[in-house]
Amino acid sequence: QKKALNEHQKFSFASGNVQTNLLPENLPKLVAEVIEANGLNVVYQPKVDLSTMRIHSVEALVRCPSDHPEYIPVNVLIETVERCGLVEALTLQVINIVLRESSQWQAAGLDVLIWINLSARLLAQAHLTATLAHKMNIWLTHPSRIGLELTESALIQDVAQTTEVLCELKRLGFHLSIDDFGTGYSSFAYLRRFPIDELKIDKLFVQGMIESLQDRQIVKSIIDLAHNFGLPVVAEGVEDEKTLNLLKDMGCEQIQGFYFAKPMPAEQLLIWCAEFHRIHTA
Ligand code: C2E
Ligand code: MG
Ligand code: MG
Ligand code: MG
Repeated sequence: QKKALNEHQKFSFASGNVQTNLLPENLPKLVAEVIEANGLNVVYQPKVDLSTMRIHSVEALVRCPSDHPEYIPVNVLIETVERCGLVEALTLQVINIVLRESSQWQAAGLDVLIWINLSARLLAQAHLTATLAHKMNIWLTHPSRIGLELTESALIQDVAQTTEVLCELKRLGFHLSIDDFGTGYSSFAYLRRFPIDELKIDKLFVQGMIESLQDRQIVKSIIDLAHNFGLPVVAEGVEDEKTLNLLKDMGCEQIQGFYFAKPMPAEQLLIWCAEFHRIHTA
């Protein structure tokens, strides 16, 4: 099974295009079983504030454990849950893990904003805000400790209804971000309507910056656009100092990428944060 999925991944992701008709037929069942068995993990990747060199926040990223007998690469996992109506179940599991693990960091003295990826699909659900508020209550956590990165795999059908849900989430205290801005369906209409706190530039553009003038121009345009709306910008996928400096010169506020850290398990994050803090306050 493991081999079949890896072969599939090699095949369909080489082009960066998910070809759903090529997925093994048992994938939905496999994914449902992993979620059902509480088999998912979460790793965390820091976002660093460039002006202060402080850890601004962390992004929670779901993983199927690599030693899982039915290992599923994250791209395949997300594509499958989106396609098979499992995205809510996955998201709730991720939120549970994040709230449990972060309550342990808090006890250990690390209080950091955590961003969770929220499929825009879920914004169409009437009970979303109540569910999220309930989770916060159970874990005695205030929504202001949580950010929601809106990720899109389908066009938001009802912008007015989505705006209402986002305003309610904002009112509760959640931070809101538009993920992978400039790719997929994310649109200017959202900037005008949604009560968001930041824009995130997809690594697709960031990673082309050194080689491609066009990518640099796209990144610069997104940064200027965000600033015109009074929003800070996060760039994901920064792997080297040259890209970091280009982004800094363009006024980008925050950086996320392998240059600083790869996504890591909760235990490791505590150690990493302490070390990063030590180096940058020395
Ligand atoms: P994303 O939200 O845009 O997350 C950023 C992705 O870029 C992550 O991929 C991260 O590991 C990767 N990345 C960060 N810095 C670098 C870098 O310097 N170099 C390279 N090569 N990659 C970097 P990942 O973890 O594979 O996640 C892929 C996507 O899956 C995410 O993209 C997000 O859209 C989705 N996803 C992950 N976790 C969840 C989740 O809990 N719920 C939902 N709905 N989607 C999720
Ligand atoms: Mg994200
Ligand atoms: Mg992103
Ligand atoms: Mg991305």
